[in-house]
Amino acid sequence: TTCDAPASLGPKVDLSRHPCFNKKSHHQHARVHLPVAPRCNLQCNFCNRKFDCMNESRPGVTSAVLPPDQAVPYLEEIRAKHENLTVVGIAGPGDPFANPVETMATLVAVRKRYSDMILCLASNGLGIGPHIDNLAALEVSHVTITLNAVDPEIGARIYAWIRDGRRPMRGLDAAKLLLDRQLDAIQRLKAHGIIVKINSIIMPGINDHHFLDIARTVSDLGADLMNCMSFIPVKGAAFEDLPAPANLDVIRTRLQCEKHLPQMTHCARCRADAVGLIHESIDNEDMTRLNRF
Ligand code: SF4
Ligand code: SF4
Repeated sequence: TTCDAPASLGPKVDLSRHPCFNKKSHHQHARVHLPVAPRCNLQCNFCNRKFDCMNESRPGVTSAVLPPDQAVPYLEEIRAKHENLTVVGIAGPGDPFANPVETMATLVAVRKRYSDMILCLASNGLGIGPHIDNLAALEVSHVTITLNAVDPEIGARIYAWIRDGRRPMRGLDAAKLLLDRQLDAIQRLKAHGIIVKINSIIMPGINDHHFLDIARTVSDLGADLMNCMSFIPVKGAAFEDLPAPANLDVIRTRLQCEKHLPQMTHCARCRADAVGLIHESIDNEDMTRLNRF
């Protein structure tokens, strides 16, 4: 299994220093998630929005929302403590593009201050489209799209509703539009040379038979890496009674999908306010710092 990403993209940014996309670097380089995106533009049946985004987080865990104009002062403090910080990401606690003003303002401010920082995003893909050119201009180099189905019939079982602008949609129409947006986003991100990881959550009886189709489809569009994640039942979510997949099934799924694209296996499902090395738990000082901003 390899999950090493191409070594360079922009002139200043050394992509081998992203601990999540480059297994060799995950003991050396630290990352921080800036929790500037509280709202979400859809409802996954596996998520309880009272808590947090399963895109990249465990439930219940951003200690605060960071105002975009505090991103740089906050990062200054983080950098003073974590000298090995190479990646600044936005991964919720909702979706970055349900909060596009906050997300883009944060990225602009961070890029202006730190020309060599790797910028990274995780999104459900619904609202990212109009921002892709600007993301490329800001040299955002890594984007994760969470995509759980490439068949709208299956998608309709996973998403309770989506909101596109002011328009709420449900059922098959919602799943179709979401899928169109996700596939289009992958293609356009790749046209800009951005590294694209796909997160797919294995939900027994819902989409677990469907992973080869997902892997084949996203690989054909140029996605670089796939992260097959276990579904974790969350209290209060529509799927709270669905069982988690067996470990063996997760391994089998990854082996099958590996025929189509490299699998990421060291993801730690970090919090939306994660700080530090990816397998290091957040310490008290970092935890309380956020509440001062
Ligand atoms: Fe929850 Fe993330 Fe799904 Fe939004 S995209 S409903 S925050 S898991
Ligand atoms: Fe990296 Fe996964 Fe953590 Fe995101 S959730 S920072 S991809 S290890």
